[in-house]
Amino acid sequence: MTKIIGPGSTIGILGSGQLGRMLAISARQMGYRVAVFGGDRLSPCGQVCDLIWPEDYNNEALLHEFASVSDVVTYEFENIPAHAAAAIAARTELRPAVGLLGTAQNRFLEKTALAKLGLPTARFLMMQNADELVAAHQDFGGDVILKANTEGYDGKGQWGIGPDADVAAIWESSELTSGLVEQKVAFDYELSMIAGRFADGHCAFFDPFLNHHANHILDVSISGSPLISVQVASQAEAMGRAVLEHFDVVGVLCIELFLTSSGELVVNEIAPRPHNSGHLTIEAYNCSQFELQLRTICGLPHVAINRMAPVAAMANLLGQHLPPEWTQNAVDAVRNAHLHLYGKQEPKTNRKMGHVTVLGSAPCEAEANVRACRDGLLA
Ligand code: AMP
Repeated sequence: MTKIIGPGSTIGILGSGQLGRMLAISARQMGYRVAVFGGDRLSPCGQVCDLIWPEDYNNEALLHEFASVSDVVTYEFENIPAHAAAAIAARTELRPAVGLLGTAQNRFLEKTALAKLGLPTARFLMMQNADELVAAHQDFGGDVILKANTEGYDGKGQWGIGPDADVAAIWESSELTSGLVEQKVAFDYELSMIAGRFADGHCAFFDPFLNHHANHILDVSISGSPLISVQVASQAEAMGRAVLEHFDVVGVLCIELFLTSSGELVVNEIAPRPHNSGHLTIEAYNCSQFELQLRTICGLPHVAINRMAPVAAMANLLGQHLPPEWTQNAVDAVRNAHLHLYGKQEPKTNRKMGHVTVLGSAPCEAEANVRACRDGLLA
Protein backbone atom coordinates (compact mmCIF):
# COMPACT_ATOMS: atom_id res chain seq x y z
CA MET A 1 0.00 0.00 0.00
CA THR A 2 1.19 3.54 -0.80
CA LYS A 3 2.48 5.40 2.24
CA ILE A 4 0.47 8.57 2.85
CA ILE A 5 2.48 11.66 3.67
CA GLY A 6 -0.24 13.66 5.38
CA PRO A 7 -0.76 17.30 6.32
CA GLY A 8 1.70 18.35 9.01
CA SER A 9 4.53 16.61 7.13
CA THR A 10 7.25 18.62 5.39
CA ILE A 11 7.46 18.98 1.61
CA GLY A 12 11.02 19.62 0.40
CA ILE A 13 11.33 21.75 -2.75
CA LEU A 14 14.53 22.04 -4.78
CA GLY A 15 14.56 25.54 -6.24
CA SER A 16 13.03 28.77 -4.99
CA GLY A 17 11.36 30.41 -8.01
CA GLN A 18 7.72 31.03 -8.85
CA LEU A 19 6.82 27.38 -9.47
CA GLY A 20 8.14 26.54 -6.02
CA ARG A 21 6.22 29.49 -4.58
CA MET A 22 2.90 28.35 -6.04
CA LEU A 23 3.58 24.77 -4.91
CA ALA A 24 4.46 26.03 -1.42
CA ILE A 25 1.28 28.13 -1.23
CA SER A 26 -0.77 25.10 -2.24
CA ALA A 27 1.09 22.95 0.32
CA ARG A 28 0.49 25.45 3.10
CA GLN A 29 -3.18 25.65 2.17
CA MET A 30 -3.32 21.89 2.62
CA GLY A 31 -1.61 22.03 6.01
CA TYR A 32 1.93 21.02 5.08
CA ARG A 33 5.22 22.57 6.11
CA VAL A 34 7.63 23.59 3.36
CA ALA A 35 11.43 23.29 3.26
CA VAL A 36 13.30 24.88 0.35
CA PHE A 37 16.79 24.20 -0.92
CA GLY A 38 18.26 26.83 -3.18
CA GLY A 39 17.49 30.40 -2.27
CA ASP A 40 17.14 33.05 0.36
CA ARG A 41 14.25 34.64 2.22
CA LEU A 42 13.70 37.21 -0.56
CA SER A 43 13.31 34.61 -3.32
CA PRO A 44 9.75 33.92 -4.57
CA CYS A 45 9.55 30.62 -2.69
CA GLY A 46 11.76 31.73 0.20
CA GLN A 47 9.11 34.31 1.14
CA VAL A 48 6.46 31.67 1.76
CA CYS A 49 8.33 28.64 3.13
CA ASP A 50 9.06 27.48 6.66
CA LEU A 51 12.71 26.49 6.27
CA ILE A 52 15.32 27.43 3.68
CA TRP A 53 18.85 26.42 2.73
CA PRO A 54 21.09 28.39 0.35
CA GLU A 55 21.87 26.83 -3.02
CA ASP A 56 25.04 24.81 -2.75
CA TYR A 57 24.64 21.48 -4.45
CA ASN A 58 28.23 20.57 -3.61
CA ASN A 59 27.63 20.77 0.10
CA GLU A 60 26.65 17.23 1.16
CA ALA A 61 26.03 18.30 4.75
CA LEU A 62 23.45 20.92 3.66
CA LEU A 63 21.76 18.46 1.30
CA HIS A 64 21.67 15.90 4.11
CA GLU A 65 20.09 18.36 6.54
CA PHE A 66 17.48 19.40 3.97
CA ALA A 67 16.67 15.79 3.05
CA SER A 68 16.41 14.70 6.65
CA VAL A 69 13.71 17.25 7.51
CA SER A 70 11.74 16.57 4.29
CA ASP A 71 9.21 13.72 4.22
CA VAL A 72 9.27 13.91 0.43
CA VAL A 73 11.33 16.06 -1.94
CA THR A 74 10.28 17.39 -5.33
CA TYR A 75 11.70 20.05 -7.65
CA GLU A 76 10.58 23.11 -9.53
CA PHE A 77 13.31 23.06 -12.17
CA GLU A 78 15.19 20.23 -13.81
CA ASN A 79 18.82 21.29 -13.73
CA ILE A 80 19.65 19.63 -10.46
CA PRO A 81 23.10 18.02 -10.46
CA ALA A 82 22.85 14.22 -10.60
CA HIS A 83 25.02 13.75 -7.50
CA ALA A 84 22.75 16.05 -5.46
CA ALA A 85 19.60 14.27 -6.64
CA ALA A 86 21.20 10.92 -5.74
CA ALA A 87 22.28 12.20 -2.29
CA ILE A 88 18.70 13.27 -1.57
CA ALA A 89 17.16 10.09 -2.97
CA ALA A 90 19.40 8.05 -0.66
CA ARG A 91 17.89 9.74 2.39
CA THR A 92 14.26 10.46 1.57
CA GLU A 93 11.70 10.04 -1.19
CA LEU A 94 12.56 12.08 -4.32
CA ARG A 95 9.56 12.41 -6.67
CA PRO A 96 9.58 12.25 -9.66
CA ALA A 97 12.57 9.90 -9.33
CA VAL A 98 16.11 10.36 -10.63
CA GLY A 99 15.56 8.46 -13.91
CA LEU A 100 13.22 10.99 -15.47
CA LEU A 101 15.19 13.91 -14.07
CA GLY A 102 18.45 12.74 -15.68
CA THR A 103 16.71 12.22 -19.03
CA ALA A 104 14.88 15.55 -19.00
CA GLN A 105 18.17 17.39 -18.34
CA ASN A 106 19.67 16.20 -21.59
CA ARG A 107 17.87 16.96 -24.85
CA PHE A 108 19.55 14.10 -26.72
CA LEU A 109 18.69 11.49 -24.08
CA GLU A 110 15.16 12.87 -23.89
CA LYS A 111 14.52 12.78 -27.63
CA THR A 112 16.10 9.32 -27.88
CA ALA A 113 13.80 8.03 -25.12
CA LEU A 114 10.75 9.60 -26.78
CA ALA A 115 11.67 8.07 -30.14
CA LYS A 116 12.09 4.63 -28.49
CA LEU A 117 8.60 5.02 -27.06
CA GLY A 118 7.36 5.56 -30.61
CA LEU A 119 6.41 9.19 -30.00
CA PRO A 120 7.01 11.51 -32.96
CA THR A 121 9.79 14.09 -32.50
CA ALA A 122 11.62 16.42 -34.87
CA ARG A 123 14.52 14.68 -36.60
CA PHE A 124 17.59 15.26 -34.43
CA LEU A 125 21.33 14.57 -34.28
CA MET A 126 24.21 15.39 -31.96
CA MET A 127 26.82 17.72 -33.47
CA GLN A 128 30.49 17.96 -32.53
CA ASN A 129 31.74 20.44 -35.11
CA ALA A 130 30.85 22.85 -37.93
CA ASP A 131 31.20 20.24 -40.70
CA GLU A 132 28.66 17.97 -39.05
CA LEU A 133 26.30 20.91 -38.65
CA VAL A 134 26.65 21.91 -42.31
CA ALA A 135 25.84 18.32 -43.36
CA ALA A 136 22.85 18.01 -40.98
CA HIS A 137 21.50 21.40 -42.08
CA GLN A 138 21.49 20.18 -45.66
CA ASP A 139 20.09 16.75 -44.80
CA PHE A 140 17.27 18.29 -42.71
CA GLY A 141 16.15 20.55 -45.56
CA GLY A 142 18.04 23.75 -44.72
CA ASP A 143 15.85 24.82 -41.81
CA VAL A 144 17.03 23.69 -38.39
CA ILE A 145 17.49 24.75 -34.79
CA LEU A 146 20.78 24.23 -33.01
CA LYS A 147 20.30 23.77 -29.26
CA ALA A 148 22.65 23.51 -26.32
CA ASN A 149 22.13 19.93 -25.17
CA THR A 150 21.75 20.88 -21.52
CA GLU A 151 20.54 23.86 -19.53
CA GLY A 152 18.77 25.86 -22.27
CA TYR A 153 15.36 27.39 -21.53
CA ASP A 154 13.03 30.07 -22.94
CA GLY A 155 15.00 30.03 -26.21
CA LYS A 156 18.36 30.58 -24.47
CA GLY A 157 21.09 28.43 -25.97
CA GLN A 158 19.23 28.14 -29.29
CA TRP A 159 20.09 29.26 -32.80
CA GLY A 160 17.61 29.11 -35.68
CA ILE A 161 19.47 28.31 -38.93
CA GLY A 162 17.47 29.05 -42.07
CA PRO A 163 18.24 28.18 -45.72
CA ASP A 164 20.51 31.18 -46.37
CA ALA A 165 22.42 31.14 -43.11
CA ASP A 166 26.19 30.88 -42.77
CA VAL A 167 25.99 27.58 -40.90
CA ALA A 168 29.67 27.27 -40.00
CA ALA A 169 29.76 30.84 -38.67
CA ILE A 170 26.75 30.12 -36.44
CA TRP A 171 28.49 27.05 -35.06
CA GLU A 172 31.59 29.11 -34.24
CA SER A 173 29.65 31.93 -32.64
CA SER A 174 27.56 29.51 -30.56
CA GLU A 175 30.78 28.49 -28.74
CA LEU A 176 29.29 25.03 -28.28
CA THR A 177 31.66 22.08 -28.12
CA SER A 178 28.72 19.80 -28.86
CA GLY A 179 25.05 20.50 -29.45
CA LEU A 180 21.80 19.04 -30.68
CA VAL A 181 20.46 19.97 -34.08
CA GLU A 182 16.76 19.55 -34.80
CA GLN A 183 14.82 19.82 -38.01
CA LYS A 184 12.46 22.76 -37.77
CA VAL A 185 8.88 21.52 -37.42
CA ALA A 186 6.30 23.44 -39.45
CA PHE A 187 3.57 23.59 -36.85
CA ASP A 188 0.28 25.47 -36.61
CA TYR A 189 0.06 25.57 -32.83
CA GLU A 190 2.00 24.75 -29.70
CA LEU A 191 0.24 22.75 -27.01
CA SER A 192 1.12 21.44 -23.59
CA MET A 193 -0.19 18.34 -21.85
CA ILE A 194 0.16 18.46 -18.07
CA ALA A 195 -0.46 15.19 -16.29
CA GLY A 196 0.17 13.50 -13.00
CA ARG A 197 0.65 9.92 -11.87
CA PHE A 198 -0.02 8.53 -8.41
CA ALA A 199 2.18 5.91 -6.75
CA ASP A 200 -0.38 3.18 -7.56
CA GLY A 201 -0.13 3.99 -11.28
CA HIS A 202 -3.36 5.98 -11.62
CA CYS A 203 -2.91 8.88 -14.07
CA ALA A 204 -4.74 12.22 -14.11
CA PHE A 205 -4.76 14.67 -17.03
CA PHE A 206 -5.60 18.29 -17.62
CA ASP A 207 -6.97 19.19 -21.04
CA PRO A 208 -4.17 20.18 -23.40
CA PHE A 209 -3.53 23.93 -23.37
CA LEU A 210 -2.93 26.08 -26.43
CA ASN A 211 0.21 28.19 -26.02
CA HIS A 212 1.33 31.37 -27.76
CA HIS A 213 4.98 32.36 -27.43
CA ALA A 214 6.66 35.73 -27.94
CA ASN A 215 10.46 35.89 -28.28
CA HIS A 216 10.65 32.18 -27.37
CA ILE A 217 8.95 32.87 -24.02
CA LEU A 218 5.46 31.66 -23.18
CA ASP A 219 3.11 34.61 -23.61
CA VAL A 220 -0.51 33.40 -23.36
CA SER A 221 -2.03 29.99 -22.59
CA ILE A 222 -5.64 29.00 -23.24
CA SER A 223 -7.65 26.15 -21.81
CA GLY A 224 -10.81 25.11 -23.62
CA SER A 225 -9.70 26.20 -27.10
CA PRO A 226 -11.82 24.75 -29.94
CA LEU A 227 -8.60 24.58 -31.99
CA ILE A 228 -7.79 21.42 -30.04
CA SER A 229 -10.08 18.66 -31.26
CA VAL A 230 -11.25 15.75 -29.13
CA GLN A 231 -9.00 13.45 -31.20
CA VAL A 232 -5.94 15.62 -30.66
CA ALA A 233 -6.70 15.86 -26.94
CA SER A 234 -6.97 12.11 -26.57
CA GLN A 235 -3.78 11.60 -28.59
CA ALA A 236 -1.98 14.07 -26.27
CA GLU A 237 -3.33 12.18 -23.26
CA ALA A 238 -2.08 8.85 -24.66
CA MET A 239 1.36 10.42 -25.15
CA GLY A 240 1.30 11.74 -21.59
CA ARG A 241 0.36 8.32 -20.25
CA ALA A 242 3.12 6.62 -22.26
CA VAL A 243 5.77 8.95 -20.80
CA LEU A 244 4.41 8.76 -17.23
CA GLU A 245 4.33 4.97 -17.34
CA HIS A 246 7.66 4.50 -19.09
CA PHE A 247 9.50 6.58 -16.48
CA ASP A 248 7.37 5.22 -13.62
CA VAL A 249 6.69 8.83 -12.68
CA VAL A 250 5.15 9.68 -9.33
CA GLY A 251 4.41 13.38 -9.62
CA VAL A 252 3.49 15.85 -12.34
CA LEU A 253 5.06 16.55 -15.71
CA CYS A 254 4.40 18.58 -18.81
CA ILE A 255 4.87 17.48 -22.40
CA GLU A 256 5.32 20.34 -24.84
CA LEU A 257 3.84 19.52 -28.25
CA PHE A 258 3.63 20.92 -31.74
CA LEU A 259 0.37 20.46 -33.68
CA THR A 260 1.02 20.32 -37.42
CA SER A 261 -1.45 21.37 -40.10
CA SER A 262 -2.13 17.70 -40.86
CA GLY A 263 -3.26 17.22 -37.24
CA GLU A 264 -0.14 15.33 -36.16
CA LEU A 265 1.31 15.88 -32.68
CA VAL A 266 5.10 16.11 -32.40
CA VAL A 267 6.75 16.11 -28.97
CA ASN A 268 9.12 19.01 -28.36
CA GLU A 269 10.23 18.35 -24.81
CA ILE A 270 9.35 17.08 -21.36
CA ALA A 271 9.41 19.21 -18.23
CA PRO A 272 9.37 16.87 -15.21
CA ARG A 273 7.41 19.34 -13.07
CA PRO A 274 4.47 21.77 -13.22
CA HIS A 275 4.67 24.19 -16.13
CA ASN A 276 4.09 27.86 -16.82
CA SER A 277 1.19 26.99 -19.15
CA GLY A 278 -0.55 25.27 -16.23
CA HIS A 279 -0.78 28.33 -14.01
CA LEU A 280 -4.35 28.81 -15.19
CA THR A 281 -5.26 25.54 -13.44
CA ILE A 282 -5.21 27.44 -10.13
CA GLU A 283 -8.53 29.09 -10.94
CA ALA A 284 -9.81 27.07 -13.89
CA TYR A 285 -9.79 23.55 -12.39
CA ASN A 286 -11.03 21.93 -9.20
CA CYS A 287 -7.44 20.79 -8.54
CA SER A 288 -4.49 22.90 -9.70
CA GLN A 289 -1.31 21.46 -11.18
CA PHE A 290 0.37 22.24 -7.84
CA GLU A 291 -2.26 20.44 -5.81
CA LEU A 292 -1.97 17.51 -8.21
CA GLN A 293 1.81 17.50 -7.67
CA LEU A 294 1.25 17.38 -3.90
CA ARG A 295 -1.44 14.74 -4.09
CA THR A 296 0.72 12.47 -6.24
CA ILE A 297 4.02 12.87 -4.38
CA CYS A 298 2.30 12.52 -0.98
CA GLY A 299 0.27 9.42 -1.85
CA LEU A 300 -3.04 11.20 -1.25
CA PRO A 301 -6.27 9.85 -2.77
CA HIS A 302 -6.89 10.27 -6.50
CA VAL A 303 -8.86 13.26 -7.62
CA ALA A 304 -10.88 13.59 -10.83
CA ILE A 305 -9.69 16.64 -12.74
CA ASN A 306 -12.57 18.89 -13.83
CA ARG A 307 -12.50 22.26 -15.56
CA MET A 308 -14.59 24.78 -13.60
CA ALA A 309 -15.12 27.24 -16.46
CA PRO A 310 -15.59 26.59 -20.19
CA VAL A 311 -12.52 28.67 -21.03
CA ALA A 312 -9.54 30.18 -19.22
CA ALA A 313 -6.72 32.35 -20.53
CA MET A 314 -3.46 33.21 -18.79
CA ALA A 315 -0.96 35.92 -19.75
CA ASN A 316 2.53 36.13 -18.33
CA LEU A 317 3.58 39.43 -16.83
CA LEU A 318 7.20 40.01 -17.78
CA GLY A 319 9.28 42.95 -16.59
CA GLN A 320 8.47 44.94 -19.74
CA HIS A 321 4.72 44.56 -19.16
CA LEU A 322 4.90 46.44 -15.90
CA PRO A 323 4.88 50.22 -15.48
CA PRO A 324 6.84 52.20 -12.92
CA GLU A 325 5.11 52.02 -9.52
CA TRP A 326 3.98 48.68 -10.87
CA THR A 327 2.81 46.96 -7.75
CA GLN A 328 0.07 49.53 -7.06
CA ASN A 329 -0.81 49.91 -10.75
CA ALA A 330 -1.02 46.17 -11.24
CA VAL A 331 -3.54 45.78 -8.47
CA ASP A 332 -5.58 48.72 -9.81
CA ALA A 333 -5.58 47.54 -13.42
CA VAL A 334 -6.30 43.90 -12.81
CA ARG A 335 -9.69 44.10 -11.18
CA ASN A 336 -11.65 41.61 -13.20
CA ALA A 337 -9.01 38.96 -13.38
CA HIS A 338 -6.88 36.83 -11.09
CA LEU A 339 -3.55 38.51 -10.47
CA HIS A 340 -0.51 36.58 -9.27
CA LEU A 341 2.73 38.38 -8.45
CA TYR A 342 5.79 36.36 -7.55
CA GLY A 343 7.33 38.75 -5.04
CA LYS A 344 10.32 39.59 -7.25
CA GLN A 345 11.78 43.01 -6.61
CA GLU A 346 13.16 44.20 -9.94
CA PRO A 347 11.04 44.04 -13.12
CA LYS A 348 13.80 43.28 -15.66
CA THR A 349 13.05 42.69 -19.36
CA ASN A 350 11.84 39.12 -19.98
CA ARG A 351 11.85 38.34 -16.26
CA LYS A 352 8.69 36.50 -15.22
CA MET A 353 7.21 38.77 -12.55
CA GLY A 354 3.71 37.31 -12.35
CA HIS A 355 0.73 36.26 -14.41
CA VAL A 356 -2.92 37.05 -14.82
CA THR A 357 -5.77 34.62 -15.49
CA VAL A 358 -9.24 35.30 -16.87
CA LEU A 359 -12.09 32.79 -16.88
CA GLY A 360 -14.80 33.00 -19.52
CA SER A 361 -17.16 31.21 -21.81
CA ALA A 362 -15.76 32.15 -25.23
CA PRO A 363 -12.09 31.48 -26.10
CA CYS A 364 -11.51 34.59 -28.25
CA GLU A 365 -13.09 36.78 -25.63
CA ALA A 366 -11.06 35.29 -22.77
CA GLU A 367 -7.85 35.68 -24.74
CA ALA A 368 -8.71 39.27 -25.71
CA ASN A 369 -9.64 40.05 -22.10
CA VAL A 370 -6.44 38.70 -20.64
CA ARG A 371 -4.35 40.59 -23.20
CA ALA A 372 -6.34 43.78 -22.60
CA CYS A 373 -5.90 43.34 -18.89
CA ARG A 374 -2.13 43.08 -19.32
CA ASP A 375 -2.01 45.98 -21.80
CA GLY A 376 -3.99 48.01 -19.29
CA LEU A 377 -1.00 47.95 -17.00
CA LEU A 378 0.95 50.20 -19.34
CA ALA A 379 -2.00 52.31 -20.49
P1 AMP B 1 12.51 24.64 -26.37
O1 AMP B 1 13.50 25.33 -25.51
O2 AMP B 1 13.01 23.39 -26.98
O3 AMP B 1 11.20 24.44 -25.65
O4 AMP B 1 12.17 25.63 -27.58
C1 AMP B 1 11.62 26.93 -27.38
C2 AMP B 1 10.68 27.27 -28.52
O5 AMP B 1 11.40 27.22 -29.77
C3 AMP B 1 9.53 26.30 -28.70
O6 AMP B 1 8.45 26.62 -27.84
C4 AMP B 1 9.20 26.50 -30.17
O7 AMP B 1 8.46 27.69 -30.36
C5 AMP B 1 10.56 26.69 -30.81
N1 AMP B 1 11.12 25.40 -31.26
C6 AMP B 1 11.94 24.58 -30.57
N2 AMP B 1 12.26 23.47 -31.28
C7 AMP B 1 11.64 23.59 -32.46
C8 AMP B 1 11.58 22.78 -33.64
N3 AMP B 1 12.25 21.63 -33.75
N4 AMP B 1 10.83 23.22 -34.67
C9 AMP B 1 10.15 24.39 -34.61
N5 AMP B 1 10.18 25.21 -33.53
C10 AMP B 1 10.91 24.82 -32.45
